Amino acid sequence: MQYADLVESYRRIDATASTDEKTAIVASVLEDATIDELEMLLPLFRGKVTPAYEQGDLGVSSTLTLEAICKATGVSEPEIETAWRETGDLGTAAAEAVENQAQQTLFATELTVESVFETLRDLLEYEGEGSQQRRIDAVAKLLSNADPEEARYVVRTVLGHLRIGIGEGTIRDAIARTELDGSDEATDAVEYAYQLTNDYPLVARTARETGVDDLRALEIDLFRPLQVMLADSAANVEDGIEAVATSDGSLLAEYKYDGVRIQLHKDGDEVRAFTRRLEEVTEQFPDVVENVRMHVAADSCVLEGEIVGYDPGTGDLTPFQELSTRIKRKHDIEAAAEETPVIVYLFDLLSIEGESLLERSLDERLARLDSVLDPEEWAIEPAQHVRFDPADPEPARKLYADALAAGHEGLMLKNLEVPYQPGRRVGYMLKIKPTMEPLDVVVTRGKYSEGRRKGKLGRLYLACRDPEADEFREVGRLATGYTDEQLAALTDALEPLITETDGRDVTVRPEVVLEVEYEEIQSSPTYDSGYALRFPRFVRRREDLSVADVDTLERVETLFEQQ
Ligand code: AMP
Repeated sequence: MQYADLVESYRRIDATASTDEKTAIVASVLEDATIDELEMLLPLFRGKVTPAYEQGDLGVSSTLTLEAICKATGVSEPEIETAWRETGDLGTAAAEAVENQAQQTLFATELTVESVFETLRDLLEYEGEGSQQRRIDAVAKLLSNADPEEARYVVRTVLGHLRIGIGEGTIRDAIARTELDGSDEATDAVEYAYQLTNDYPLVARTARETGVDDLRALEIDLFRPLQVMLADSAANVEDGIEAVATSDGSLLAEYKYDGVRIQLHKDGDEVRAFTRRLEEVTEQFPDVVENVRMHVAADSCVLEGEIVGYDPGTGDLTPFQELSTRIKRKHDIEAAAEETPVIVYLFDLLSIEGESLLERSLDERLARLDSVLDPEEWAIEPAQHVRFDPADPEPARKLYADALAAGHEGLMLKNLEVPYQPGRRVGYMLKIKPTMEPLDVVVTRGKYSEGRRKGKLGRLYLACRDPEADEFREVGRLATGYTDEQLAALTDALEPLITETDGRDVTVRPEVVLEVEYEEIQSSPTYDSGYALRFPRFVRRREDLSVADVDTLERVETLFEQQ
């Protein structure tokens, strides 16, 4: 298949806001594709060259891409940069560069879906010395054979931002429609199979070759992470019980730990670890891997739990932020494991000795989990929990209080009678956390967004007041919670206050006061206040407040101490 045909469908998808039309366009392309082409088209429609469970980072930054565009077209770097800044999209800048290129390629070969896909997949393999130059050369070669539209989408794919508004749901519906009969049952089967495998090519192939029953029969594959079951929230234990209970049977109350959710796959001596976003973190957590290898009495299994860091000196829990640096760490991993050792609190067992437990009740899964864990071992242990009668919530309340007193995040309430639902928020488990009081903060800096929010200051830096130094101290940055209208109004309010512009970054006079909510306050070297709001959300603009009313650093410190 010619790459130009795929690009034409990208253009049509981009031109419509209707999800139905987008689905119909994807479906029309899939319908004519061979099985081999499906393997390439399905990731490419999502702007990737790997199925979702693989990392797929091509290692090509915008700087490298810029060099590749220069090399392919002979257009100067400053010219391309100007177009990039003006359009907010390096893909469009590439299209313009190809249009205006100094060197007309004499012997351009036509790009095929296969040649683009293979070239990009090869990038995944490039490592070590000279690999950057090889990446630039490979991308430049594609671009020198590309027409302007092809160049636009090659660049966006390379950068991992295809920006045509195709979500997983669109791909699911298109597969259900072209490979099966498009019924609700077919769509559900495709979704289930995807949540289990994270591999649309595999799902489409199975659907085409054998149909719905075989999609339902797909099994957990060791070392291929499945999507995790998600939690809803409840305001308190009483509401939580009402929402989660489906019978008079016992419920489970369990500590909610503040760490990193981890899915652990074990097959003999080989153990691999994945985050909830399906990233593999085996290398970053050799201590966890060793613990599973040594202390889980099963030849093969898939476990789920939360890893929590602690201070080896004091035994105190470490903030999530410190643990998250272990995930990003690529060097000195052993040292990191010593600085921030972890405990694994397991809360589910999804398969054992080749047998899937997804359809079993949580009660049974937990009993099986207990049977493979060493009761003496504390660095890998079951999450702290109690089974209780919903008519008498006292044990759940007590556990919640204990969890908070021990420095954990809150409580989970779980229905013990239900199966595991990969990738779904189905109300089988609920989280309860104390909410923090909102803060009034002032905007000091901003960054213009790309994509749908282009032209808007979609990222705002927030500060509290330090009356002693008569200065503002930053406590985090905000990018969610506002509607498009609210964001447009905020941008209008901030633009007249801009004092400095650097690319998409701006500094503003601190005058716009916002009320924000957040999950917690962490100590942080990133901001000059020494603190960071975790997951801040916009609540409203406080035009009724002046900067003198902005919350003080002292108050942030007090809230930090109290949590
Ligand atoms: P949230 O991230 O606020 O949506 O809360 C859900 C997350 O809590 C899960 O994804 C887990 O990472 C984490 N968690 C901590 N303790 C537990 C537990 N006992 N059971 C399930 N999830 C837990």
